[in-house]
Amino acid sequence: MNRRQFLRSTAALSTLGAVEFLPWHTVSALASEVGDFVRGPAVKDHPLQQLSKHVWMIYSPDGFPTPENQGMMCNLTFVDTPKGLVAVDTGASVQIGEMAIRQIRQVLKKPVIAIINTHYHGDHFLGNHAFVDAYKDIPIYAHAGTIQQIQGMEGNLWRTLMEQWTNQATMGTRVVPPTIAVDHGQELKFGDVTLRMHHYGKAHTPSDICVEVVEDKLTCIGDVAMDRRIANMDDGSYAGSLKAYDALEKNAASTIWLPGHGHPGAGVLAWNRGLFQGIYESCLKAIEAGEAMAAAKVRVLADERVRSRAKDTKGFDNNIGKYVSLAYLEAEAAAF
Ligand SMILES: [Zn+2]
Repeated sequence: MNRRQFLRSTAALSTLGAVEFLPWHTVSALASEVGDFVRGPAVKDHPLQQLSKHVWMIYSPDGFPTPENQGMMCNLTFVDTPKGLVAVDTGASVQIGEMAIRQIRQVLKKPVIAIINTHYHGDHFLGNHAFVDAYKDIPIYAHAGTIQQIQGMEGNLWRTLMEQWTNQATMGTRVVPPTIAVDHGQELKFGDVTLRMHHYGKAHTPSDICVEVVEDKLTCIGDVAMDRRIANMDDGSYAGSLKAYDALEKNAASTIWLPGHGHPGAGVLAWNRGLFQGIYESCLKAIEAGEAMAAAKVRVLADERVRSRAKDTKGFDNNIGKYVSLAYLEAEAAAF
């Protein structure tokens, strides 16, 4: 169904007369029919790339959702184990999940046997829908706080936001929350492949899970750190993120840090540490000097660690003002 047909069918529904006069079972039958029927178009193929012995990634070239990219803004990871594939994050829509499943069926020819969602932002879990449709009863792991948020407000909020940002290209996506809670230090064994969970308190969100693929010295860090993209810090903490980088380096020593956004590599934590230190330490200095938020922003923009990264950081110009405000408020609270 294209957009015009959809609008026509919506108009037809409303001319059925005031819906409240219909018996309830008729209304819900209509609603579910429309829900099944109205679906955004398929997402174009993005190739699987092998990063290490067991780890494959579908790389997302864009960092933010648009109607053109249909919400393809987040890397999807698949760990190839003797038991089957484990997906770490599933993309922003059912269509993105289905695209990933097409690639897997061509290249890896194995079923997906589990999902891990790194946190509750929609670009990381809305694709769950496609996987539970394709692979019956697969477990979906996440931190308990992430499960709670997706079951609560955040699930539908992100589904609706993603429809708006993509001009409804993600329509038809259902919120499928994770089912099994995991916490720091826990290990999931799949044959000879070990996935170790890391959680160091509030970083990108209060309930991030980073997934270390122990045998490969590779860690999926979700959005705790990014490569050349500014993070959405609405739910996060600068100080908490910096603390998490230190802890990850100490406890998950990896040669590849695989972020949700940008390219994987050895330098991802260092790149993001520099940016966040430049923002947060400048704000701390401004607070110490008794300066207002505007002066803190001047300090941030003049900081060499920020300046040197600004030009090739996706989303920098649009977001730096807002995220300096958040850093300033966090620094202010920390000072008392
Ligand atoms: Zn993300």
